[in-house]
Amino acid sequence: MTTRDALAAVREEVRRTPAYPFTRIDVPVKLDQNESPWDFPENLKKLATERAMSRAWNRYPDLNADTLAERIGAYEGWDPRGVVVTPGSNVLIKLLTELGGINRTVLTVKPTFAVYELEAMMLGARLVEVPLHDDFSLDASGLEAELRKGGPGLVYLTQPHAPTGHLDREDDVVRLANAASKAGGWVTVLDEAYYQYSGSDYRELARGHDDRVVLRTFSKAWGLAGLRLGYALTTPAMATELQKLVPAFNVNALTQAVVEVALEHPQYVRERAEATVRERERVLKALEAHPTWVAYPSSTNFFLVRTPNAEEAYKALISKGVLPRRQDKQHLLAGCLRVALGTPEENDRFLEAAMQIQANG
Ligand code: PMP
Repeated sequence: MTTRDALAAVREEVRRTPAYPFTRIDVPVKLDQNESPWDFPENLKKLATERAMSRAWNRYPDLNADTLAERIGAYEGWDPRGVVVTPGSNVLIKLLTELGGINRTVLTVKPTFAVYELEAMMLGARLVEVPLHDDFSLDASGLEAELRKGGPGLVYLTQPHAPTGHLDREDDVVRLANAASKAGGWVTVLDEAYYQYSGSDYRELARGHDDRVVLRTFSKAWGLAGLRLGYALTTPAMATELQKLVPAFNVNALTQAVVEVALEHPQYVRERAEATVRERERVLKALEAHPTWVAYPSSTNFFLVRTPNAEEAYKALISKGVLPRRQDKQHLLAGCLRVALGTPEENDRFLEAAMQIQANG
């Protein structure tokens, strides 16, 4: 059999879907993945390693990471039977698409987080994307009209939003979640990957509603992107269904041990999120002096900046040792780069580089 024949066995939807858009580039100041610029605290790394060492590695971990789910429940003030834990919230997006998107509708906005689109495409969902307004706010009426047209399906409300960093009005988000519940057949996914930088919190909107799921992650403010841990907060009834889709023993014992230790010492997360918010305001203020770039306000640990020529600006920043993230050349983000906040020193380097790139970039 030739390779071509073999690939013909791959479902059309998978072949049509592009790979996750990411290229690794090694530069000193890495601002392309919205990670925490600070590693997990050294003393906690030590404690976590000891905890991991005290456990048997020849045995499978907890089937559904039950102990961890209980600890997350206690931390979040959430019934632990409604907590589902996976290696990163990306996995939950895939599983939610399996749960409620296959042969159904996935409703989101444009631009949006690429994984919603990729999973919808691969799993054969009908993808409906309602363009954001020019100021990056949700088109609540447009989304509501799509919700009323009917599900079943999934609707993603990312708060604060990625890749824009925009935080929507709470009444718009509440209105949409209520419209989805009223229309029926929709699962509303409130993706809160960046909530620690925003002051927003949609747990209460989801509490007690079988059709609402909050997604959170240890990859950003907790500084544990390398360990891979995300979770869903929902009702026990919905969690039971979602859990069936999680492969058995999915969260490894090392990650479970590290996250347990993190949850026992959560103070650093708030301090760092506050430091990042201070840096964000400092960097955005400094960029006001840039002759050609326009940075957008943000409620996350990253921001968008519009340049006269994104490709030139991207290359120029890399040549100065700073790595931002390119955006789709789609209309609303044409000319934009996405830049994560780093340490104060990294942000200084970014600003210095940015100020040197003017006319062409
Ligand atoms: N949702 C959004 C909006 C994100 O930006 C990200 C990270 N890029 C994720 C979910 C996934 O995070 P993780 O899989 O690392 O938990």
